[in-house]
Amino acid sequence: MRIGIARISQETNTFSPMLTDLDTLSAHGIARGPDVLLDQDEWSFIPAFLEVVGHEEPVGILSVHARPSGPLTAEALHTILEWFVTDLESALPLDGLLFAMHGAFAGLSDPDVEGLFLKRARAMVGPDTLIAAAMDLHGNITRRKIENADIIRGFHTHPHVDGPQTARRVAEMLLAALRNEVRPVMSAVKIPMITPAETQLTEEWPMKELMDLTRSQEQDPRVLSSSIFAVQPWLDVPEMGWCSVVVTDGDKRLAEQLARELASKAWEQRQEYIRPCPTYIQALDQAFATDLRPVVISDLADLMTGGGTGDSTWYLKELLARNPTEPCFLTMVDPEVVHEMARLGPGARATFELGGKQDRLHSTPVRVTGEVVRVLPPSSDRKLPADVGWAAVLQVGTISIVVLERLGPGSTPDIYSGAGLDPTQAKILIAKSVVDFREGYKGVARLFLLGEAPGLAPSNLRTLRWEQVPRPIFPLDDEVPWDSARAEVMYSRGGTVKYLR
Ligand SMILES: [Zn+2]
Repeated sequence: MRIGIARISQETNTFSPMLTDLDTLSAHGIARGPDVLLDQDEWSFIPAFLEVVGHEEPVGILSVHARPSGPLTAEALHTILEWFVTDLESALPLDGLLFAMHGAFAGLSDPDVEGLFLKRARAMVGPDTLIAAAMDLHGNITRRKIENADIIRGFHTHPHVDGPQTARRVAEMLLAALRNEVRPVMSAVKIPMITPAETQLTEEWPMKELMDLTRSQEQDPRVLSSSIFAVQPWLDVPEMGWCSVVVTDGDKRLAEQLARELASKAWEQRQEYIRPCPTYIQALDQAFATDLRPVVISDLADLMTGGGTGDSTWYLKELLARNPTEPCFLTMVDPEVVHEMARLGPGARATFELGGKQDRLHSTPVRVTGEVVRVLPPSSDRKLPADVGWAAVLQVGTISIVVLERLGPGSTPDIYSGAGLDPTQAKILIAKSVVDFREGYKGVARLFLLGEAPGLAPSNLRTLRWEQVPRPIFPLDDEVPWDSARAEVMYSRGGTVKYLR
């Protein structure tokens, strides 16, 4: 059996001014045709797909992805869609098509990039080819996604640890369906709610209760997959909101009933996700007051894993003002400064206007004088991810700042150790991640704290200027009348698959 494999993936923050263009996508690596199958990165899902369908006839189509950032430009969307159409055309005929997606990829000219690709794929492969997609639980499910796919499954964990496992399950379902062992039918219910990311931990109440419900639904042999999409909250698009998605073996009524049950439970608990988030001042107060070290503080409103610009200066300003006696590490995306540091070279002392240049709505540059300790040009033998571009370490008193050319991973201490700093020696480590840093720093941190400063990925969603989201929606509006029993249900293929009952 011929099974196409494509990866179209980004978690877009539509409030970010850092647009995603072809250069951004190129920096993360674009693959076409057979090259798609060479991807070794576990989290690309390609190895997981190949584990399951590798003995069939896998066919690489296209792989484009980027770290979370602002919307995709219209030109870039036009180009990658053209590549996709060309590469899919030459791959036809296909029995099945597997997509690795995030689910929250938005463009300036289309708010639902992955839905657009699914729709185009369906139009090209026709009704007899099965289409399946693995997505992040922060994906935003749209009618276009549901109606053009047969199977969609989301992660069941946050922090995310089951990405490759989700991809394998999706590929297994597709393969079983292609062998006529199961007949997937999918139902989805949109829920008019968005919630802050930091309260969506799947090992903690209330999210755990929802995830337990998906697992208990999956115990039913008639159920192939049950997912709840908690959607990343900084996405201002017309079909924004949580969504339940259930895939059954040919039983449309059961899929609908279970999707309503999940949606109802999520809605019932909506208030529980809204909790006061400490400010960055409070977080620093607590970190300096404790004997524990290192303390890892999430600069959540500037999270690099969710579309923050990575150059917020609130923490830097406050640390400078407090003049700490122990080492404190933070990161700053600033291409101008890192290039200037590279020009000056290690050992140089200089004054820089650092950070605060991208998100001018929330941050301003800070004047700092310090020593260039280390310069790390992009190269394969350094231990930093390639996509951060140039990196350099600036020492200002006890504060070590890893200055990056581009966004990097905000959730692991590798960003510090890769720059030659020892994270275990710090009193305070600033992480640009809201939840996944708990996983990334678990071997290092003695205490985890959240501290909200003004930024593009806030906990308090009412601070953002929303224009596209459907209203009313919780928690932006006080009154949101909604009833899961009467909510509209979306079906795969619009509910027209002939084996439905
Ligand atoms: Zn996610």
